[in-house]
Amino acid sequence: MYPFSFTKATSTREALDAGLRGGRYIAGGTTLVDLMRETVERPETLVDISALPLRQVSATKSGGLRIGALVRMAEAAAHRAVRTAYPVISQALELSASAQLRNMATIGGNIMQRTRCTYFRDVTAACNKREPGSGCAALHGYNRGHAILGTSDQCVATHPSDLAVALAALEATVHLLGPDGERTVPFAGFLLQPGSTPNREQAIRPGELITAVEIPAHPRPLRSGYLKVRDRQSYEFALTSAAVALHIRGGVIRGAKVAAGGVGTVPWKLPAVERHLIGERPSDRLWAEAAEHAADGARPLRHNGFKVELLKRTVERQLSTVGGTK
Ligand code: SF4
Repeated sequence: MYPFSFTKATSTREALDAGLRGGRYIAGGTTLVDLMRETVERPETLVDISALPLRQVSATKSGGLRIGALVRMAEAAAHRAVRTAYPVISQALELSASAQLRNMATIGGNIMQRTRCTYFRDVTAACNKREPGSGCAALHGYNRGHAILGTSDQCVATHPSDLAVALAALEATVHLLGPDGERTVPFAGFLLQPGSTPNREQAIRPGELITAVEIPAHPRPLRSGYLKVRDRQSYEFALTSAAVALHIRGGVIRGAKVAAGGVGTVPWKLPAVERHLIGERPSDRLWAEAAEHAADGARPLRHNGFKVELLKRTVERQLSTVGGTK
């Protein structure tokens, strides 16, 4: 570790002032402290925001749900309103990390977490995300766990968050507070694909603070769930995952929200799969046909071609589970 200063914000104003002076926000610290130990990140000032009043889960006027940025992952997963209305969120959270980490890590920190690409975390390896212009060791290295969608010739790292996949499927928005006031960003535009600037990962401005994520109201009844496929059954990141929410009324699918994880440089929404489902009656054949579109546009690397078929099967399985034909 290296020397750094630490300050605890007692108000949002205090936090924003410190953030504008270059301070780095920290809450649960479950990602940032690891990265600092490995000297992948070297912030000079940490601003502890854990005392700020951002720890509520509440219904919105329009019938959606707002989850404060400092709600712990375990709290959100267990919250009655989340479990009842959006099981896909509870399941994504419960399948993440370990119980200890879920008790510390926050919702805001979860969506800000950085990639698990091993080259990114190895300061001796070339990595455009860590050091722009240095190259990408994963492109011609061992890339079994890397992305097949949304990649560029600069970076092929996956986004690691399960929660983010559920939020992408449900078309959530991110609430931000900065020196110019509040603003909201659709989740689809919050996490950025690498393109030619893989070091820029979120559409967040200097000094801005995430205050909440909001899930919009969806037509009821809404069935939803999350499936995660990984090399071992716990404390592991996804090889592939699928977040599915279906609105079925009168035996017909009226609404479908589907996103995939473990395969994209950002959580990967699957509009072609969604379109294939709308207006149809649930059946095993429908799930299989829709899932054929899950890997549209995929560009596998040397070691991760298996993800194309695995992704289709993951999506098919989860459509079938949520859609009720299994
Ligand atoms: Fe770095 Fe991205 Fe390449 Fe990994 S895939 S080494 S994070 S540039």
